[in-house]
Amino acid sequence: MSEDLISRDAVLDACSQSYDILDAMGRIEELPSVNPKPCEDAISRQAAISTIREMEEWHTGDAFNADRVLKHLRDLPTVTPQPKTGHWIQTNEFFINQDGQFIYKFICSECKSLSYFRKSNKKAIGANVCPNCRCRMVEPQESEG
Ligand SMILES: [Zn+2]
Repeated sequence: MSEDLISRDAVLDACSQSYDILDAMGRIEELPSVNPKPCEDAISRQAAISTIREMEEWHTGDAFNADRVLKHLRDLPTVTPQPKTGHWIQTNEFFINQDGQFIYKFICSECKSLSYFRKSNKKAIGANVCPNCRCRMVEPQESEG
């Protein structure tokens, strides 16, 4: 199971519009999950909610202090998901392009989408990442480790 990630900006935005801690937690639970690229700032939904829940326990009776909540949320670590891996399933189908090259049809093991690549030494060329699901493509024997 991969972690449930949400955009930190969206969390900060939701909290700055909240009127109390329960409201803030509700808004965070409704935020869409993201599948961030490495440069994007995503945090764990679980971490965001437990941060706020802890504050509720510590500060029972206090008025909702958005600044304090926001500060804690800004301090949460950025989470970069481990890229998924998959492999290309070769088919026997191919066509010949304008340059006379053989272009083979491959199927992504993860999302089952079709891609077309030239082959060299029985390997697809230029196919390190699935253009559809962004899986990193490895040799089948690598993905077992
Ligand atoms: Zn794919």
